[in-house]
Amino acid sequence: MKSQDIRKAYLNFFESKGHLIVPSAPIVLKDDPTLMFNNSGMAQFKEYFLGNGTPKSPRIADTQKCLRVSGKHNDLEDVGFDTYHHTMFEMLGNWSFGDYFKKEALAWAWEFLTEVLKLDKDRLYVSVFEGNPAENVPFDQEAFDIWKQYVSEDRIILGNKKDNFWEMGDQGPCGPCSEIHIDLRTEAERNAVSGRDLVNADHPQVVEIWNNVFMEFNRKADGSLEKLPAQHVDTGMGFERLCMAMQNVTSNYDTDVFTPLIAKVEEITGLKYTSNDAMTSRDLSIQEEQNKTNIAIRVIVDHVRAVAFAIADGQLPSNTGAGYVIRRILRRAIRYGFTFLGTKEPFINKLVEVLANQMGEFFPEIKSQQQLVTNVIREEEASFLRTLEQGLQLLDKVVAETSGKEVSGEKVFELYDTFGFPKDLTALILKEKGYSFNETEFETELQKQKARSRAASEVTTDDWKVLIDGNVETFVGYDQTENNVKIT
Ligand code: ATP
Ligand code: MG
Ligand code: MG
Ligand code: MG
Repeated sequence: MKSQDIRKAYLNFFESKGHLIVPSAPIVLKDDPTLMFNNSGMAQFKEYFLGNGTPKSPRIADTQKCLRVSGKHNDLEDVGFDTYHHTMFEMLGNWSFGDYFKKEALAWAWEFLTEVLKLDKDRLYVSVFEGNPAENVPFDQEAFDIWKQYVSEDRIILGNKKDNFWEMGDQGPCGPCSEIHIDLRTEAERNAVSGRDLVNADHPQVVEIWNNVFMEFNRKADGSLEKLPAQHVDTGMGFERLCMAMQNVTSNYDTDVFTPLIAKVEEITGLKYTSNDAMTSRDLSIQEEQNKTNIAIRVIVDHVRAVAFAIADGQLPSNTGAGYVIRRILRRAIRYGFTFLGTKEPFINKLVEVLANQMGEFFPEIKSQQQLVTNVIREEEASFLRTLEQGLQLLDKVVAETSGKEVSGEKVFELYDTFGFPKDLTALILKEKGYSFNETEFETELQKQKARSRAASEVTTDDWKVLIDGNVETFVGYDQTENNVKIT
C-alpha cells in the first residue's frame, strides 16, 4: 500500500466513525508565543481541552505536520542515526471532545490496524498505565480490560508515569495513555527473545506507533484527582512508522515517503544508500565509510522536509527565533553533505521538486511554494558553503600558527561558535593534515558557553503549564519560548 493510500485509509476510516476531517495546522506557529513549532496533533486543539471555545465537531481527525527539534520534544540528535525519529513527521490523530472515550478509541485503533490495514496481530503490543499510588493516580483497569478483549494478557505491558501518563503541569487536566507498539523483527530474532525483551523499547525494530491519551482527571491544587466532567481522547500515530509497518520494511527511510528523495541524492552524488545499518555508536569518527554515507543521506532527506515545509508555511531561515532553528537544521544537512558526501555545490534545493511531486497532492502549499522554497534553500546553501570554505581558510591559518601537531581547543571553539564551523568537520580536516586539537580545552569552552545559555533561558519540561492567577487559568504553553537553541 502506498503512503498516500495509507493516509487516506486513516482519514476515511475515522470519517466513517463520524469524525470531521480537518486540514493540518501550519508547522510554524505565529500566534503562540510559547511554542515555536507544532509538535503534536493536539496543539491546535489545546484550548478546547481547557474548555475555552467549542470545536466544530465533537469528533475530529487529521494528519498534522509536526516538528520536534526544540523544547520538550527534541529528537534532532537521533535523526539520521536511528531509522524512526524525524525532525518533521506527520502525526495522524483522532480526537473526542467530551464525546467517545476509551472503549471506542481503543476498539477503533485495533479495528483500523488489524481489519482495515490487516497488520499482523501477533506483532502488536499495547501498554497501559500501571498506576502510581504516591501521586494518587490509579492503575488503568478500564483500558486493561478493554485490551483483554483483543489481545492476550502477555501482550499488555504496564507502563510507568513517564511513558503512560499525560499531564499539563502540576494542575489541570491529565490522564493515562495507552500505546500500541509493533515488532518488525524477523521470526528468528523474535524466537530468540522472551519476556520483556519481546518489547524492548530500544530495539530499532520494535517501535511505538500510536499513542492514545485519555484526559480523564483534573488535578487539583492539593494534588488530589477528580474526574473531569467532560472526558476527552487525544491520539497520535506516527505516519511514517505506520508506512514502515505496512510496506514490510524495517526503516522509515525504506518507505515511499523517503525512497524518491534518497534516489535523487544518489543520482546527484553518485553514492549508494545501503539502507539499514546497525547503529551501535553515535560517534561518527568510528563509523565505517558506508555508514557515514547512510547517516548523511538520512539526515539530508529528513531535514529537507522540515525546512521545505517550514518555508512553505512562511518561516524563512533567519538569525532569530524559529527562523534560526530552521537555518540550523538546513546547515546541519549542508554540513553532513559537505563532510560525508563530498558535496561542494548547492544540491539540497534540487530535492524540493521531488518532495513537491510526492507530497503536493495532499499538502498543496509545498507545490504552490515550490519555487520560493527551492530558491531560498539554494541561497542558503550557497552562502553556508562559502562559510565552510572560509572556515577552511581560517583553519589553514590556525594550523600555520600552531607549533607542534595539536591545535588549541579554544581556537577550534572560536571557529565553531563564531563561524558556525562544526567541530567534527574541523577534526576531520585537521586529521587530513596530520593534526589534532585539544579536546579538553574545547569542552571547557563549550561548557562555559552552555552555562551562559542556560542562564539566559530557563526551559520548562511540562507539556503545558497552567498558571493560577487568582481564579483564572492561563495557558502558557508546551515549552517556553526557546531562546539560545543550539543545533549542532
Ligand atoms: P518515541 O517514544 O518513539 O520518541 P513519543 O512517545 O515521543 O515517541 P508521542 O508524543 O506519543 O511520541 O507521539 C505520538 C506518535 O508520534 C508516536 O507514537 C510515534 O509514532 C510518532 N512520533 C513521535 N516522535 C516522532 C518522530 N520524531 N518522528 C517520527 N514519528 C514520531
Ligand atoms: Mg519521543
Ligand atoms: Mg514514547
Ligand atoms: Mg508516546
